[in-house]
Amino acid sequence: MSQIYNFSSGPAVLPREVLQTVQAELTDWHGSGMCVMEMSHRGKEFTQIIHEAEADLRKLLNVPANYRVLFLQGGAHFNFGMVPLNLSKEGDTADYVDTGHWSRIAIKEARRYANVNVVTSNEDRGSTYVPDEASWKRSANAAYLHYCSNETIGGVEFPFVPASTFEGKDIPLVCDMSSNILSRPLDIAKFGVIYAGAQKNIGPSGLTLAIVREDLLGHARPGTPTMLDYQVHAAADSLYNTPPTFGIYVAGLVFKWLLANGGVAAMEARNIEKAALLYETISASNDFYRCPVEKAFRSRMNVPFFLHDDALNEAFLEGAQARGLLQLKGHRAVGGMRASIYNAMPFEGVKTLAEYMREFARSH
Ligand code: PMP
Repeated sequence: MSQIYNFSSGPAVLPREVLQTVQAELTDWHGSGMCVMEMSHRGKEFTQIIHEAEADLRKLLNVPANYRVLFLQGGAHFNFGMVPLNLSKEGDTADYVDTGHWSRIAIKEARRYANVNVVTSNEDRGSTYVPDEASWKRSANAAYLHYCSNETIGGVEFPFVPASTFEGKDIPLVCDMSSNILSRPLDIAKFGVIYAGAQKNIGPSGLTLAIVREDLLGHARPGTPTMLDYQVHAAADSLYNTPPTFGIYVAGLVFKWLLANGGVAAMEARNIEKAALLYETISASNDFYRCPVEKAFRSRMNVPFFLHDDALNEAFLEGAQARGLLQLKGHRAVGGMRASIYNAMPFEGVKTLAEYMREFARSH
């Protein structure tokens, strides 16, 4: 097959080397005679796989000892409910930052359990920026502050980490990092809870990662379903029930790939370069292409853009497909195009897309 580049927002491209390892090991993992899919999650082989995956992730993100790494299921969506159920009591106020689609889904779910105070919203300017932190209306007694560090649909990424104290009080910072975790170095110690669906920068869908500060465990509300209690998963080392074993295995291979390729610092340098090339191509197009996101908040992971005339969309996508540039169609909620360029997207892929964009603009 000729070279293709997959710009899907998720499930998304995985490192080719990882897929080749999966293929080579598929029917016989390390001489065990078994596929990872066939192994008991409590056997010695899988125990090794999950321990290595956790150790490698801890190395990559420098996870402090007082944080637990949890391999969960249910996607980021489960965490939208888990966060208020585990971190707030009935009647508590929880602060939420609204920077777009995924923030709003998290807010809607949290409203079922807590008094949600939306500290700021970027809806006034078409969800294209992050409002200045100094203008946020935080509550003094918030159980936590929740934000989404990268809005996958809007392409709005935080260039900063919000304060984890307010009026002298520590307020646990909770972050949905589904679409930019592992794309840059991170100071985990600033956070109470980080969660992420795996299907962008980690591995296959079906696996969900949470990193939880230990003091926040063990406080789930009465009535919380067992599977939604972080403490249950922490106490069982992510083996309370049958975990998504194959997903954990593939994620573990992705972590090894990241370590072998310079870790998150090297990823950040690559990601800056890839994103810059696309945004520069858009800026230099004399308004043939347009990115709606304000410059300071443009995502390094998801680059949404519009053609000056929607009537050209089909031709653009067809031409892209013919060159092996796949899944560029924007989210149905916003239309246009979106190029997702996660860690596993090589620079060559972005370069090929930029060349195609210039060529398409010239010929249309
Ligand atoms: N948050 C963000 C930032 C996302 O990009 C997505 C998925 N695209 C979700 C939450 C929802 O994730 P899941 O489908 O894993 O529940």
